[in-house]
Amino acid sequence: MTSSDNPREGGCLCGQVRYRTEGSPRWVLHCHCNSCRRQSGAPMVTWAGFHSDRFTWTASAPQTYKSSPGVERLFCGACGTPMMFRSERWADEAHIAVTTLDDPGSVTPKGHVHVAEKLAWMHLGDDLPQHDHVAGG
Ligand SMILES: [Zn+2]
Ligand SMILES: [Zn+2]
Repeated sequence: MTSSDNPREGGCLCGQVRYRTEGSPRWVLHCHCNSCRRQSGAPMVTWAGFHSDRFTWTASAPQTYKSSPGVERLFCGACGTPMMFRSERWADEAHIAVTTLDDPGSVTPKGHVHVAEKLAWMHLGDDLPQHDHVAGG
């Protein structure tokens, strides 16, 4: 793969935080956990896992909040947009909030995770696999 393989760009609502990533995401999943819900203000958050070596911030750096041990959530300090989830458990992955991509439709969700915490009124109308916690576990 070359350095210009499948580039994607994205950013926050106000535009201060911007990023660029290359390569296809390893996975794209809807997360129903309570932490994602509280941080985003939405009933679920769709994440894409990109290789962290192929991800760069291209404008202002985001703010960091340690939401649990070994877990960081990055967001724009100016407008509050949730941007990234980073965990020691998946140290080589940059988990990007899909809706911050300039073209969120360019990636396709493949499943639901943390469905054990899903809101009862959140009815899933797709046929994607549903995992109680993380995919494969
Ligand atoms: Zn912003
Ligand atoms: Zn979550």
